[in-house]
Parts: sequence; C-alpha cells; structure tokens
Amino acid sequence: MNYNNDKEKPTFIAEIQLGRVVKYLRFAGFDTQTLHQASRRELLRLAEEQGSVLLTSARTGEESHALCISLPSSDLSKALKILNERFSLAAHYAPFTRCIRCNTSLEVLRKPPESLPAFVLEHFREFRCCPSCEKVYWKGSHYRRMETKWQEVFQESGP
Ligand SMILES: [Zn+2]
Repeated sequence: MNYNNDKEKPTFIAEIQLGRVVKYLRFAGFDTQTLHQASRRELLRLAEEQGSVLLTSARTGEESHALCISLPSSDLSKALKILNERFSLAAHYAPFTRCIRCNTSLEVLRKPPESLPAFVLEHFREFRCCPSCEKVYWKGSHYRRMETKWQEVFQESGP
C-alpha cells in the first residue's frame, strides 16, 4: 500500500485523547479505530499491520514516521485541516455511513424504531442504524453541526 497516494481512502487508528477528531472522522465515513490501554508502540505496530495511519496527540520521535501524525487535541478545526491537506479527505467524504460511537458501517433503516421521540419521527424520513451497538442516526442538529464543520474545513483548506 502506498501512503503517499492521496487518492487512496485512508484508514486511521487514533489515541483516545483525540476523541473529538475520532468522532468527526467517523462521521465523515473514515474507518477510525481507538484502542484503550494500548501503548503508542502497540498502536504503531497495529497501524503498520493494517496499513492505517496512527493519529497521536503527543509530539514524539515517532511522529516523523510516515504512519504517525501528531495532531492538536485542543484545536479540532486545525486537526481536521491537517488531515484533509495530507490525505485529501474531501475526495472521500461520505457522511452518514459510519457509527460515530463504535466505527461500524451503518445500515439503512426502512422503518424507524417507535421508541424515537415523536418530533424526530415527524421531521425526519431517513434513518440509519448501527448493526453493532444499535444506535440510530438521522440528519438532525447534531448531523448539521458536524456537516458544517467539515464544509468549513474543506473551504479553508483551499482547492
Ligand atoms: Zn455503533
């Protein structure tokens, strides 16, 4: 696998300190794993095995490694811009396809669960569900907020 090929859709393994970045990457459809209680060395090895990019919040000697990218955990916009410029994320952007909570690919729900709030059932027609953790998604305010953030990142990153 060639990591310098920006046309290839990247996959990520992220340190848990980068929780917000992880959520936004999953929202945008990027396979982003997190592992609790794994050392940076273990994460790096896993990233190498899987052909994924390791995202870290710390500045370490390993960041010069082609597979390891250091991101600011306190500046979400900056972190997303760095990733977009490095991996052309805009070209692969596919929101509403992956579970933000557990990283599983979402399935289309033909019929929303009755348990959803009445106003959601009333205002939204499109629902997707995570087959693993069973979280249900629709394009509400949370979706719009994350979508807006990504569009800002894409615009500010330039063509
Ligand atoms: Zn899930």
